[in-house]
Amino acid sequence: MWFMNEERELMRNIAREFVEKEVLPVAQELDMNEEYPRHLFRRAGELGLIGVVYPKEYGGLDGDWVTKMLITEELCKGSPTLNVVIGAHSSLAGGVLNLLGTHEQKAKYLTPAVKGEQILALASTESAGCFNMEEFQTRAYQDGDEWVINGTKIFITNIMVADTYIVTARTAEHYDPVTRKGFSMFIVEKDTPGLEFGKIENKLGWHGSNTGPVYFKNVRVPKENILGPLHESVGAFALSACDEYMSCGAAGLGIAEACYEKALAYAKSRMQKGKSLYDNYQVIRHKFARMATEIEALRALTFGTAMIRDTGVYPLALARMCKTKGYETAMLCANEAVQIFGGLGVVRETGVERFFRDARLFGIAGGAIEPLFDQINMFKDHNMEFIVRQAPQS
Ligand SMILES: Cc1cc2nc3c(=O)[nH]c(=O)nc-3n(C[C@H](O)[C@H](O)[C@H](O)COP(=O)(O)OP(=O)(O)OC[C@H]3O[C@@H](n4cnc5c(N)ncnc54)[C@H](O)[C@@H]3O)c2cc1C
Repeated sequence: MWFMNEERELMRNIAREFVEKEVLPVAQELDMNEEYPRHLFRRAGELGLIGVVYPKEYGGLDGDWVTKMLITEELCKGSPTLNVVIGAHSSLAGGVLNLLGTHEQKAKYLTPAVKGEQILALASTESAGCFNMEEFQTRAYQDGDEWVINGTKIFITNIMVADTYIVTARTAEHYDPVTRKGFSMFIVEKDTPGLEFGKIENKLGWHGSNTGPVYFKNVRVPKENILGPLHESVGAFALSACDEYMSCGAAGLGIAEACYEKALAYAKSRMQKGKSLYDNYQVIRHKFARMATEIEALRALTFGTAMIRDTGVYPLALARMCKTKGYETAMLCANEAVQIFGGLGVVRETGVERFFRDARLFGIAGGAIEPLFDQINMFKDHNMEFIVRQAPQS
């Protein structure tokens, strides 16, 4: 592949071996039991798979985004749930910490997170909708040496298992959607009084990712737990979300490839009238050609975008295209795999329906496809497809 080099191949192989030897043997069972993949998470941290793009100073590898995409692709071939709990932790919450955190905050929270020793969650979405921040109700005010946070977040991944929650809260009277000023972000440790959780949602897919509501009832944190400059955190959050959107391209790629491989092996071994399904029917062979075409298109988009990201630029529109194309390609291939497996395709133990269910969530969670299409148009209309930003000094 045009984007490979020796270092990337090494990390890709570590991820691939981890998935084949440690993830795949338990992925189906974890899904059925809706069990959080804690031991796999820790192991991924030990192997350097979680914090590859983070600075060595904080336990990372100072690696590039192409490598991160390769790792994401491999993880998703085994367990999209594992990839999602790592994504919410490292790209979303870890990304904000890395962009906005002081040295002390990074040393305390980012370093153990990068090593997989501690888990982070990013709590932003409210019942008003993920992007509709004007109507968010969570507020924080300063009281002496502390910040006091009140509000409710919903659909938060990694609840109850996370050690630290990175939380958005309105700190200014008004939110300005143009300058995006008005919100701040806070670090809340798991045992803080007033931090409570609702029931973990029983979901279609991503079983075991511990998604549910988080309540902040007069939660008090020390004043140094604010992340970045007062009222100005949303910009950094948008950047970490951009990285997460790009990663969804690689996630979709992993799911699509896993489904393609499984379906191909089945189609070539399922015999009818003395011939395999694959040899018998042109209509089946065409499915594979179409899947392969979409997979290669997604690969080119995802790794091309990662190369641009590696120059220090945030590709705002391309990253969203990675997410939308990643979702569509994963859905196409998972759907065809279920179809090609016939009756066995809907049987849980066969393993393809898990990818079908997991692929579906990428169309909603972390930002639904429709608003992302709107944003792609907006960035293009305003010539804002790419931005460069240095981490602000707090
Ligand atoms: C499994 C899971 C895990 C999640 N993890 C996290 C997390 O860790 N942290 C966190 O903060 N949030 C998280 N979320 C929240 C997630 O980002 C939101 O659920 C998602 O963005 C959709 O928002 P919503 O549910 O409010 O849907 P709504 O905003 O109510 O949207 C419903 C539908 O309306 C349509 N729609 C909405 N806006 C537009 C628009 N502008 N243009 C056209 N159509 C539109 C879309 O079809 C959309 O699917 C998670 C969600 C899920 C399901």
